[in-house]
Amino acid sequence: MTTNQSHGSETSSDWSGSDRYKAGIIRSLELIPLWLPFKTNFKIAAGAPRQGINVMILKIHTESGLVGIGETHAWMRQGSRETFKSIESIIVDHYSPRLIGRSIFDHQAIIADLKEAVWNTNYPMAAVADAMLDLQGKILGVPAYQILGGRAKTAVAAGITLGIMPDNTALLSEVEQRVAEGYSSFTVKVGNDPERDAKAVEFLAKAMGDRIIIRADGNSGMDMAGAMRFMNRVQHLGLDAVEQLLPPWDLAGMAELASRYNVPIMADECVSSDTDLIKVITMRAASVFQTKIAKNGGAWSCKKLWEIGSAAGMRIFPGNHPGASVATASAVHLATSWPGDLLEGPLAVGVNEILAEDIVTEPILRKGKYMYAPEKPGLGVTLDEEKIKRFRVDKK
Ligand SMILES: [Mg+2]
Repeated sequence: MTTNQSHGSETSSDWSGSDRYKAGIIRSLELIPLWLPFKTNFKIAAGAPRQGINVMILKIHTESGLVGIGETHAWMRQGSRETFKSIESIIVDHYSPRLIGRSIFDHQAIIADLKEAVWNTNYPMAAVADAMLDLQGKILGVPAYQILGGRAKTAVAAGITLGIMPDNTALLSEVEQRVAEGYSSFTVKVGNDPERDAKAVEFLAKAMGDRIIIRADGNSGMDMAGAMRFMNRVQHLGLDAVEQLLPPWDLAGMAELASRYNVPIMADECVSSDTDLIKVITMRAASVFQTKIAKNGGAWSCKKLWEIGSAAGMRIFPGNHPGASVATASAVHLATSWPGDLLEGPLAVGVNEILAEDIVTEPILRKGKYMYAPEKPGLGVTLDEEKIKRFRVDKK
């Protein structure tokens, strides 16, 4: 590792001798595990309805006293096997020795070292990468979207994710309420029962199909026979995309669905890394793909996937796990810096009222379906320390 070493001829005018570079030298890491309650239970294909989510906040403390924050999730389903303890172990035991004493401005070299330390650990990586991005912005005095390439959009349109609901009337009333708020793009969670799932999508398409964009997300819950039963029923409903009906390993099955049905297939759980995405592209297993800040390792890493996917002619769905406004801010900054088209994804899921309470002092600005990247330096969000204290599960 030579990237962080002085070359002897360095003078104070060199960037690595500058005050700003030194202001980014990492002194310590602080992990804050939180359990954040949902307003109502959230049901997807796998497992029992969830009452809340496990959010891990990372604070990077620097020698200058500035603090960067990043968010990741112990999601534990559908391609994520991370727990609070595994995230903590990777960050404390394996990342920390490769972070302390280095400047967050050596971003790419640091990320490469972390990847070398532990293979394919996107969930812990997301918190570190985004906390470094936050600090870069704070030290340079610019919003994160500026670091990510500059402003390309004034605002970013977000969509709504609808959990599996006991009856279709409840589903419709939720959609009507969201349409009244200004949203126009909806993902219906499916994956447990192809007949029930198809009925829910048919019901919504009949009631609202001429006014809204509808997608269905199976969260890997179907087998091939179930997926075909579902697709046979919904293929004429004008769906914008059908997302990850099959398990993440079954790319051949996805490719078969993509060729059999005239409905765009979206990849989500099967895309963690860049090589995963390349496999989806080469197998033509999907024509749309979703990124999530935690699933894919932070804003920069998502951006890399967006570059690869868009070059292959894929549409991009900017998502996120249900989470708090730190990860949401990361996704909104990234989307703001992206000059190409984006679908109306649930990048705002943390703030579009699925959480009973958020953990930042000021919510990210939203007008109708449009989200606005914070203009303050870095990610531009400030933790509400009273709420952090209230929701942290280790009660420090
Ligand atoms: Mg999904």
